[in-house]
Amino acid sequence: MKCSHLNQIQVVTPSAAGCEDCLKIGDTWVHLRLCQICGHVGCCDNSKNKHATQHFHLTQHAIIKSFEPGEAWGYCYVDNIFFESL
Ligand SMILES: [Zn+2]
Ligand SMILES: [Zn+2]
Ligand SMILES: [Zn+2]
Repeated sequence: MKCSHLNQIQVVTPSAAGCEDCLKIGDTWVHLRLCQICGHVGCCDNSKNKHATQHFHLTQHAIIKSFEPGEAWGYCYVDNIFFESL
């Protein structure tokens, strides 16, 4: 299996220090994911709002990376592939 979306990865600036959508509605999250195409910061699927996945459905931005300190793994939603480090 190969991911064909890696060439879409940009040098991104995180949009916020936390999940930007949760911050807007005053909600909380578990872990953070950083969109590698636009820099959107969203919350993981263990969070009740699942904003990182929602961002993918809204934008088709396929690649995210963990935004947790010390974590470098990434994931492609379309291909359902994990990358050890991005
Ligand atoms: Zn892919
Ligand atoms: Zn969120
Ligand atoms: Zn994005």
